[in-house]
Amino acid sequence: MNPETSSAALALCATPLLLLLALAIHARPQEAFGYDDTPLLPDSKWRVHDGKRPQPRVVTPGAQPGAPPSDATVLFDGSDLGHWTGGDGEAKWKVENGYMEVDGTGSIRTRESFGDLQLHIEWATPAAVKGDSQDRGNSGVFLMQRYEVQILDSFENPTYADGGAAALYGQKPPRVNASRGPGEWQTYDIVFRAPRFEGGALVSPARATVFHNGVCVHVDEPFLGATTHRKLAEYEPHPGTGPIELQDHGNPMRFRNIWVRELTEYDAP
Ligand code: MG
Repeated sequence: MNPETSSAALALCATPLLLLLALAIHARPQEAFGYDDTPLLPDSKWRVHDGKRPQPRVVTPGAQPGAPPSDATVLFDGSDLGHWTGGDGEAKWKVENGYMEVDGTGSIRTRESFGDLQLHIEWATPAAVKGDSQDRGNSGVFLMQRYEVQILDSFENPTYADGGAAALYGQKPPRVNASRGPGEWQTYDIVFRAPRFEGGALVSPARATVFHNGVCVHVDEPFLGATTHRKLAEYEPHPGTGPIELQDHGNPMRFRNIWVRELTEYDAP
């Protein structure tokens, strides 16, 4: 047997063995990878390296940064407003060139309702600067139609601090102003935990973690209540889910690449 034939024969023999080995490893019960004699973790039923602790479910990330992962609901991919509705039952914002644009027909909201969520949204204020303070590039993301993360052209545009881009409007300014210039695409990545009510009483406020253009600007920040203007926000009990609303504040704002993940694991033990 020449060397080439012998290595081919070896490979032929080895292949089933390797397959069997792979199957055997795969067939090992999950418990085999962990321990059952380690200390219990505090406030948990699981031990350190617990072999019985459930595995995280698999989510395939988007192909590029900002692209929707496999378990996301894509709310707007640049083509149509099918996921959205408006005041009289129809979202009428203009859709062109892969974005939607506020056109004075009123705020729009998702047809679907959400509780705890992760939201990715891209927006641009008008390239032609008009107005100042709250009259320049104003819009907003209203979670559950109540809790606003402000959208504003905050690039060299002073306004009250709790009304600038990425502010929890009227409640908390962002830690830093990470705004891009007028007409440039900007991103929000928001992690939101819905408020919890029991018997009509608030037991846990709404909370948001926000990244503006990749910069962390809020960390698990509590809302004081539903967004309001010139008043103290307060809570009123409401259902556990609600639509996401985008505000028409009279400026021709643009939006694209909007997706949401329901965070059913937010309170995972
Ligand atoms: Mg606003």
